[in-house]
Amino acid sequence: MEFNADEFKETLATRLKWQYGKYITQATKHDLFDAVAASVLEHVMGYWMKNRRASEKEIIRRVYYFSAEFLIGRALSNNIINARIDKGVKNVLAEMNLDYAEIEDEEPDAGLGNGGLGRLAACFLDSLSTLNYPARGYGIRYEYGMFEQKIENGYQMEYPDHWLAHRDPWEIKRSDLAVTVRFGGTVTSRPGPGERIIFSQESAERVTATPFDVPIIGYGTNVVNTLRLWQASSPDGFDLQLFNEMQYRHAVDRQVDAENISRVLYPNDSGPSGKALRLKQQYFFASASLQDLVRHYVGFCGEDFSKFADLHVIQLNDTHPVVAIPELMRLLMDEHGVGWDEAWVVVTKTFAYTNHTILAEALEKWPIDIFRGLLPRIYQIVEEINHRFNITLREKLPGDYQKQSRMSIMVNGMINMAWLAIHACFSVNGVAALHTEILKKQELKDWAELYPAKFNNKTNGVTQRRWLLSSNPDLAAFITARVGHGWETDLSKVKGLEHFAEDNAALDELISVKRRNKERLAAYLKATQNEFLDIESIFDVQIKRLHEYKRQLLNMLHIMYLYDQILENPSVVREPRTFIFGAKAASGYRRAKTIIKLINTVADRVNNDRRVRGRLRVVFVENYRVSVAERIFPAADVSEQISTAGKEASGTGNMKFMMNGALTLGTLDGANIEIVEEAGAENAFIFGLKAEEIRLIETQQAYVSQKYIENDSRLFKVLEELIDGSFDPDTQLFRELYDSLVYGIEGQRADPYYVLADFAAYAEAQQKIDAAYANKRSWARKALLNIANSGKFSSDRTIEDYVRDIWKLKHISVE
Ligand SMILES: *Cc1c(COP(=O)(O)O)cnc(C)c1O
Repeated sequence: MEFNADEFKETLATRLKWQYGKYITQATKHDLFDAVAASVLEHVMGYWMKNRRASEKEIIRRVYYFSAEFLIGRALSNNIINARIDKGVKNVLAEMNLDYAEIEDEEPDAGLGNGGLGRLAACFLDSLSTLNYPARGYGIRYEYGMFEQKIENGYQMEYPDHWLAHRDPWEIKRSDLAVTVRFGGTVTSRPGPGERIIFSQESAERVTATPFDVPIIGYGTNVVNTLRLWQASSPDGFDLQLFNEMQYRHAVDRQVDAENISRVLYPNDSGPSGKALRLKQQYFFASASLQDLVRHYVGFCGEDFSKFADLHVIQLNDTHPVVAIPELMRLLMDEHGVGWDEAWVVVTKTFAYTNHTILAEALEKWPIDIFRGLLPRIYQIVEEINHRFNITLREKLPGDYQKQSRMSIMVNGMINMAWLAIHACFSVNGVAALHTEILKKQELKDWAELYPAKFNNKTNGVTQRRWLLSSNPDLAAFITARVGHGWETDLSKVKGLEHFAEDNAALDELISVKRRNKERLAAYLKATQNEFLDIESIFDVQIKRLHEYKRQLLNMLHIMYLYDQILENPSVVREPRTFIFGAKAASGYRRAKTIIKLINTVADRVNNDRRVRGRLRVVFVENYRVSVAERIFPAADVSEQISTAGKEASGTGNMKFMMNGALTLGTLDGANIEIVEEAGAENAFIFGLKAEEIRLIETQQAYVSQKYIENDSRLFKVLEELIDGSFDPDTQLFRELYDSLVYGIEGQRADPYYVLADFAAYAEAQQKIDAAYANKRSWARKALLNIANSGKFSSDRTIEDYVRDIWKLKHISVE
């Protein structure tokens, strides 16, 4: 894509004129961001249009990534880098005396996701376009994304994230492609031609789904794929009759009800929402997306659906879009006259399912009455799928009634969406080697025995374009200077850095790259939160959603212990340490919120205690999100990946840290295992119980948390400090945390995530870090070896794995 500076200036000025009626000198920063984004879009629009026209001319096999979440973050920097116009754009703006960094900072994050699962979807789209594969993302255009977090008096407060307040310059509304989605009502049937029965949904609530397309620009290629996000509205608009009767509120009732479907992202990460509106969201985007696909297919192939599965593979990102399975059955049967058996063949060859978690509470189940009320026809179809499946189960497992009932898709008044997915999909994958093993051997054992060939692993990855090239330009330059270009699209090339492991000049430069990134983060936190960070200290970082299984509490108890230690004897901690946290807690997750309060309470005390100044600091970064993550990963020395072994499916934050030269302090969990395999155990700090050990303790119900408290005076002391007023005069504040660790509450046994069991090992690993950091060059060498061996964790590798084993795509080219 040839960049023409004069044309770009021209487009920019035109946009300001048409959109805002302003000259450049009058434009606000936001006007400028909008105009720059529009000019970038203009630059790639020709290619995007060619991609679209190609798909209208010819139907080819494509992957459709169905996901309730796409955690994209900002797009400007990513887009100009991928379109290879970053230098051009920055030069033009500099010539015009405009500050690119300021303009970039005007863009709100598209926070249409909670955490890892949503960010994975965004990384996958980037890789798919970059690798020239035909793909489309399908999701929801939430009007409000992930809530904005503010910390007030140490507590998390949630505010709506109105990211669309100024319109999104990247999206294009496609009203011409709107479809209707139906909810509720009653199902009626009448005889049709031959044996057929025609079903229809009477007096249903109709909702209009309008797609908004966002371009997904590949790096250094002309391929521009599309992310299609659906917005809900009412076809009936507002009721003039009621309005004229002065019932102003009721006049817009239907409109508001429909719009509520795409109003807001549920802020639950790996947890249940159980809300009917959530099911409505799921069906809304699944149905709209399938209608879009079926309409396009029928345009080419008519009502012969025998080629549908050859031309479509639909990847279901977790159970959220699983209702697409019965919906495709419905569309084929009720709207296109396909018989059950034929429709089932199409469905079972089209869908593939990714499992993201083994936490029981995250495997979605819907109460039958909610499901039937909202989706009466879909309910019938699920019932029929289940009925037929139960017949096969009885044949395959004669007499094993327990297993039959365990595996039934509908049981105890609930519909189990994961079971529906595994039964209907041709592929079921986990997201890291350990996770897939646990699924096959434990959580989904029954299913792996029934359908062994469906199960496969696809270890997650992240895109190095965003997480290294764009967010860490100094490190990117350091790499390119030593191994040349090419790593941007083939991360295995960074392996060449290993040649510099003994090169002191290179190691010293790596140290100064990290230092500059730490300075930048410090400046940012000074400006945004008035935090003071000591550049000389170890930046020890835990940034991820707040969840008990991720064990921010283990980190905290250790910080409280270090604080006591330094007060007793300052020389025990040789290297000054800054502990950095960033985390949002689900709005209804009380204990997670109490942990945030604990972090801030301890931070307050520690940071205001002169006795530990220069040795220990604790920083909570407010409103953790993609754009903040891009500033933190490059500056990190230590990557805290300390989940209870067996609980974190993969993790992807761990990979971003590795690429940016932070050393992993972690348990043998999720992809940490593969990270250490690649980086070498001597270049990481691994501690704690292993998944099998925890498994053994759980099966024997042999866990005695008391034992750890009695045998470890350090642990005893910090636990007491939670409730003796040491950190807050209100001794009840952290009582809940204390009780959950020491006694067990709310039907749980004590310390459900083995914080106490792993405390000593964690403290020991932290001591090793303290010692290791003293030798700066040796530390830098470890960092370099982590970067050099991070090739596996590119989402490009992950995508190639999906393509080879599941999607079977051919490359596309666009002239
Ligand atoms: C990568 C990422 C995550 C996932 O982090 P984990 O440590 O893997 O849980 C969550 N949120 C954001 C903003 C991210 O960029």
